[in-house]
Amino acid sequence: MGKVSRRQFIYSGAALISSIAPFNIAGAFLNKKAEDSGVDDIRGTIFKGDAPGKLWKWSHEGYIYKKLDKKKVVCGICPNMCVMSPGDRSVCRSRVNIDGTLYSLAYGNPCAVHVDPIEKKPLYHFKPRSKVFSIATTGCNLRCLNCQNWQISQAKPHEVRFQELFPSEVIKKTENYLAESIAYTYSEATTYYEYMIDTARIAREKGIYNLWISNGYINRKPLLELSSFLDGANVNLKSFSEAIYRKLNGGSLEPVLKTFKILHDQGIHFEMTNLVVPGYVDNEDMLKRMCDWILENLGPDYPLHFSRFTPRYKLNRLPPTPLSTLVRFRRIAMAEGINYVYLGNVPIHEGNNTYCHNCRELLIERQGYNIPVNNIKNGKCSFCRTIIPGVWN
Ligand code: SF4
Repeated sequence: MGKVSRRQFIYSGAALISSIAPFNIAGAFLNKKAEDSGVDDIRGTIFKGDAPGKLWKWSHEGYIYKKLDKKKVVCGICPNMCVMSPGDRSVCRSRVNIDGTLYSLAYGNPCAVHVDPIEKKPLYHFKPRSKVFSIATTGCNLRCLNCQNWQISQAKPHEVRFQELFPSEVIKKTENYLAESIAYTYSEATTYYEYMIDTARIAREKGIYNLWISNGYINRKPLLELSSFLDGANVNLKSFSEAIYRKLNGGSLEPVLKTFKILHDQGIHFEMTNLVVPGYVDNEDMLKRMCDWILENLGPDYPLHFSRFTPRYKLNRLPPTPLSTLVRFRRIAMAEGINYVYLGNVPIHEGNNTYCHNCRELLIERQGYNIPVNNIKNGKCSFCRTIIPGVWN
């Protein structure tokens, strides 16, 4: 038998325990490991000397960075604040220092282009049934062990197949497909900031909505600038623990909380997604702390999605989140006072539906991405006329 790493041992232990014991016991065991131990910080590092020798057609000088001495640069887009010497590549893999200037290598070269239903983002309180033109280049500023799109998020721009689509062409395609919105999504849009913001600027002029689907790991200045073009967002709240953010995601919680506050202050509609990863993010005490923070800082009206984990990438040995855990989380969050709580990756379930927070009548029924029932008229409940938070048709 080959040598087994500590992490592999913990994961295989979790699988074994979950097969012989009620899952919350395994969850409690792993949560303790994940939250209490001080090791296993998986934050990314600079790729020294990995920049290409020259620029390519899809390069664009960075918008928010500073030049330092000895031709070093520091990127100001996200809390990683990458300091790069000439020839270095960033933590997010798509930004480089070439001879003292910071360039993004992800501008107009998306590797994922799709037309999606808005429910897929997920955005449940924004123009139901509308179509979203969705784009992504490679790159991410985090290192989530459970990444669903790791093939593009953890790749360099030249390592994947892409198509050429500069901002004005994105707008044309959006119009051709009769999509109402553009989503910057799939990988981490913050890392292709220049491409996103230039596209968003034109979209705003054309009356097309801009949607940011993100991990929320961004600095204040770029977020404020982006906010002036944003119409909606879905931001991951991956856990409510700094230790778990370090171990599971390679990031930090505090900047994400600041992002929520900024979006709230800017009056932008957003929804939150919490992926319930067994053994890491299935702790009820943490959930209650999270709900308390949301209620105190953002109020009860922003939709919260509990999404089901399925085994993948570096956590492919963990079991999927039991449905009972998700249902329990939804019940607890609603009991704490959050008005709109949903389940994700659970196709047919009442946790996908929208119920009026005042009279509890069914407002929107969702069957997968289909919506057979919509009882929201002019942004209000058809039964009791209560205003429903969101952006409606
Ligand atoms: S956006 Fe990329 S280059 Fe900029 S600080 Fe974040 S990880 Fe580093």
